[in-house]
Amino acid sequence: MTVIALDIGGTELKGAVVAQDGTVVRTERRPTRPTRPARPAQPARPTGPARGAGAVIDTVLGFATELADLARHAGTPPRAAGVVAPGLVDETAGTVVRAVNLDWHDVPIRHRLAEHLGLPVAFGHDVRAGGLAEARLGAGRGSDSFVFVPVGTGIAAALVTGGRAVTGARGIAGELGHLVVRPGGERCACGGRGCLETVASAAAIARRHARLTGSTTLDAEDVHRRAVAGEAAAGQVWAEAVEALADGLAATVALLDPERIVIGGGLARAGEDLLAPLAAALAERLAFRAPPRLVAAELGRRAGCLGAALLAQDLAASGLASWSVSAGGMPSSGGVPSSGGVPSSVGVPSSGGVP
Ligand SMILES: [Zn+2]
Repeated sequence: MTVIALDIGGTELKGAVVAQDGTVVRTERRPTRPTRPARPAQPARPTGPARGAGAVIDTVLGFATELADLARHAGTPPRAAGVVAPGLVDETAGTVVRAVNLDWHDVPIRHRLAEHLGLPVAFGHDVRAGGLAEARLGAGRGSDSFVFVPVGTGIAAALVTGGRAVTGARGIAGELGHLVVRPGGERCACGGRGCLETVASAAAIARRHARLTGSTTLDAEDVHRRAVAGEAAAGQVWAEAVEALADGLAATVALLDPERIVIGGGLARAGEDLLAPLAAALAERLAFRAPPRLVAAELGRRAGCLGAALLAQDLAASGLASWSVSAGGMPSSGGVPSSGGVPSSVGVPSSGGVP
């Protein structure tokens, strides 16, 4: 059965139509926020977070309709949709509790999409869904105990242990980027100081390099290139990022004992220039044990969207695709049928479930 998948990001929406055998039939991208006109068409309309949130929701709903139409025109109407979002999400309720980059606060996105599309909708956290995709299709294959760490603008982790991604009491487990690795250090967007993200995220690498050199137009990839070319400031910033990441991963390994660590996100494109020094720094910190394998993610930027497709396929395969969308758009239980058939968290099947 065909499903549609959506990965809602702060700057870009990624969408896909995925066939029953997992083949990605079509992928599409849209900006999360349409380019604003130079002069607002209706200056009297209220501005601020509420309007921004509504505009993004409308964009998401419109994009979902396009994807569903693409599937229908191909003669394979979708049986379900999967959507993943960043930030603080309540996977059970199907709600984005807070996503700063989207201006979203308590948005019942699963309900909105189900109502809009007339389809069952599965919902998950983008990083945990990415972990699910890496588990079944990528670098986590064959392991039911690994940590998926995308290092990009921010840093997060999907903590897969015993074949399940840990969600925590409030759905925010895996906020590795806000682990304090440099006490008293730089102020973080979260309000804390010295969080891993302030040293090792792609944004931090660019910012710290700019502070040393005054070059404000370079991104983390440029800094990486300059480090390889031998520029001292770039080399220093890169090394500090690696050391901080190793501190964060060492804490993660001490707590979870994963079999492997899968590094993804934009920074993983540095390949061995990141993985080799990181593995060495991690081994140094884990004197009491052998370090887990450190590998590069395999799915790149598609991980979240593929994870959304897997959630949708799981939902459709669970037989719930046949439930009719009521007038309210959702079943009476508030979104999750009580049968337990809907994965309210990203479940990663243990060995048996890995294709
Ligand atoms: Zn923080």
